[in-house]
Amino acid sequence: MNRIIGKYKGSEPGPLLVITAAMHGNEPAGVKALDLLFKMLEVEPITNPDFKYNGEIIGLIGNVKAYTEKKRFVQKDINRCWHRDYVNKLLQKDKSILQNEDFEIRDILDSVSDEINRTNPDKLYLLDLHTTSSDGGIFCIATRDSESIDIAHKIHAPVIVGLLDGISGTTLHYFNRENKGIETTAIAFEGGHHDDPLAVNRCIAATINFMRAVGVINGDDVENRHDYILKEYSKNLPDVVNVKYRYHVEDNSRWQMKPGYRNFQKISAGEILAKYNGENVMAVSDGLLLMPLYQSQGHDGFFIVEEVKSDL
Ligand SMILES: [Zn+2]
Repeated sequence: MNRIIGKYKGSEPGPLLVITAAMHGNEPAGVKALDLLFKMLEVEPITNPDFKYNGEIIGLIGNVKAYTEKKRFVQKDINRCWHRDYVNKLLQKDKSILQNEDFEIRDILDSVSDEINRTNPDKLYLLDLHTTSSDGGIFCIATRDSESIDIAHKIHAPVIVGLLDGISGTTLHYFNRENKGIETTAIAFEGGHHDDPLAVNRCIAATINFMRAVGVINGDDVENRHDYILKEYSKNLPDVVNVKYRYHVEDNSRWQMKPGYRNFQKISAGEILAKYNGENVMAVSDGLLLMPLYQSQGHDGFFIVEEVKSDL
């Protein structure tokens, strides 16, 4: 299977957009969304003669092997491996000896480097598309970079800040100026439940809103019907939340989340949320629940977040 889902070159100069999907192999919605998006970009100039695209865009599958096997990962979670020192080691190794996630990371970076060398952009943007094992939430994960937060708002989904403080080695930790050598802004989008057919539409909408937010397309260009889905879905969700707690699950086989929890569900201190090693796991505080773990791979049991009052 080809890692590259599609490429598009605009008529005008502009930044390089890298959109990744299926960094977790069991999250196919982003791949379908990008496949459709590239088809939409191809037909847009035909139906809309005024259409202009600034720069270039490439869509990539993150973990090709896990995606083929419909698993979150083969050996290790790719989205916890993006540590600078580790990645640098992978870049120095002979590619032919790398296996599984190590090979995937190296091959993603080679694909991105090829595009950077070919297009020589002033600016790189990364949008990383995901879905969750729990229901009830779409959201953006922003870095502390103000542009990342600003773009997240324009995607029209709740913005999670502070998530990256509790975990490490995500694409958002790695894709920055220091590591890429050019101005880089990164953001992640979670499009709802893995199996929800609407997750595909939400990923399309998020990608198009992202393209508008960074100025590579104009306001009404390309499909904007999907944006309605995001706005409707986000209507009753908080604008900005801050992460205040993460429960770490070392051995996933001993983890059992109580059924029925949804993203952004209100929880109270002392509420029994799960069982781990046969013991009750209770909420340490009041708050909103985020990403309760309902799949057999992964180490984040759940997060507790609180709404941030913001004028952003
Ligand atoms: Zn994911």
